[in-house]
Amino acid sequence: MSNQAPPPGFTTAILHADPDADIEHGALHKPLHVSVAYGYRDARDLAAVFQGCMPGYAYGRQGNPTAAALEVKVTGMEEGIATVCFATGMAAIGAVMLSLLKEGDHIVASRYLFGNTVSLFNTLAAQGIDVSFVDATDAANVEGALKSSTRMVFVETIANPRVQVADLGRIGELCRARGILYIVDNTMTSPWLFRPRAVGAGLVINALTKYIGGHGNALGGSVTDTGLFDWTRYENIAANYKNAKPELWGITQLRKKGLRDWGGTLSAEQAHHIAVGAETLALRMDRTCANALALAQFLAGEPQVRTVHYPGLADHPQHALSQSLFRAFGGLLSFELRDGMDLFDFLNRLRIVISSSNLGDNRTLAIPVAHTIFWEMGPDRRAEMGIADSLIRVSVGIEDCADLIGDFAQALAESPSN
Ligand SMILES: *Cc1c(COP(=O)(O)O)cnc(C)c1O
Repeated sequence: MSNQAPPPGFTTAILHADPDADIEHGALHKPLHVSVAYGYRDARDLAAVFQGCMPGYAYGRQGNPTAAALEVKVTGMEEGIATVCFATGMAAIGAVMLSLLKEGDHIVASRYLFGNTVSLFNTLAAQGIDVSFVDATDAANVEGALKSSTRMVFVETIANPRVQVADLGRIGELCRARGILYIVDNTMTSPWLFRPRAVGAGLVINALTKYIGGHGNALGGSVTDTGLFDWTRYENIAANYKNAKPELWGITQLRKKGLRDWGGTLSAEQAHHIAVGAETLALRMDRTCANALALAQFLAGEPQVRTVHYPGLADHPQHALSQSLFRAFGGLLSFELRDGMDLFDFLNRLRIVISSSNLGDNRTLAIPVAHTIFWEMGPDRRAEMGIADSLIRVSVGIEDCADLIGDFAQALAESPSN
């Protein structure tokens, strides 16, 4: 009927988002706006910007045009209605909690979470927020933990480092039925592999530092409102943020309380790096996932390897679920060496793979989990999360696959016990 062009594909939309708006000199990239303050010839316009009656910028902590251009891209990638960017992924998660929770509120969180998020939630618990950690691979555990004071449910898609997959669809149904805000940290899958909107998430977190930026050269985080949550049912929205349309209440409070007051602002330079990285997200992610699957299959066949955890392997407990939810199985795997093999010696024998804590870099990085990123939480909590002392996490990059497998093969072959 209509002769409108079909909507652009994922990558086309990212590449052409900037020129949709007027850019100085026809530049193909959104320029870096590094000014801290913005001046107005008519002081009434300055007042109007402050009062939210006119779009515009006033002070850099509240955002800048370069970060705003990235927000538009992330909103498109997640098929949401609005996004706020932050200086890091943790700043994004912290801002959500700080701006939307009050003392006495209850949240249900997955027991399998990024370690610093666990640490943050423990801080919240010490400050009067009631936090329950549950095994979110089964929605029944989430349901069993709900209280009348439950304000939000928080899960990750594929958990780091043991790659458990949350019961994303059923938890979404549960939250919708109970009117509870459902927050999904989509960092491990990125919007190319999965859109949490499809399972009813109200807010989507991305650590832009990881796959979306992709090059390990910029920190950033984002929160996207999918438009699915009914903010009129949320108790903690301040009266002065209810002037906007109800679908914007949450993101408005997040931008004011979470970004402006908390101050974890994404700089223009970092936003630019991340926006350039985002252009190739789909290409890099396809290569990363193919490499990760090949490496997981290789390791699973090696006698020196005791166990491999990867959602793409048939013996993973949520393999079928992952297949139904995600475009591919992600770039993260973890494994344990056979008893008696020293994991530090093994890591030192790797020549291409770098011992490093980041993930979602183009380079393949490996880390002894219990001794580093999950050290601070102690042995009991590690055991609850399924983290053995000998666990090695691998964030698979985009190297040529044969080089990657060759590197692991030589490091296994040179084992002294061989
Ligand atoms: C890295 C990560 C974060 C935090 O992001 P930063 O940019 O490092 O603060 C949050 N969630 C997940 C799942 C992550 O992997």
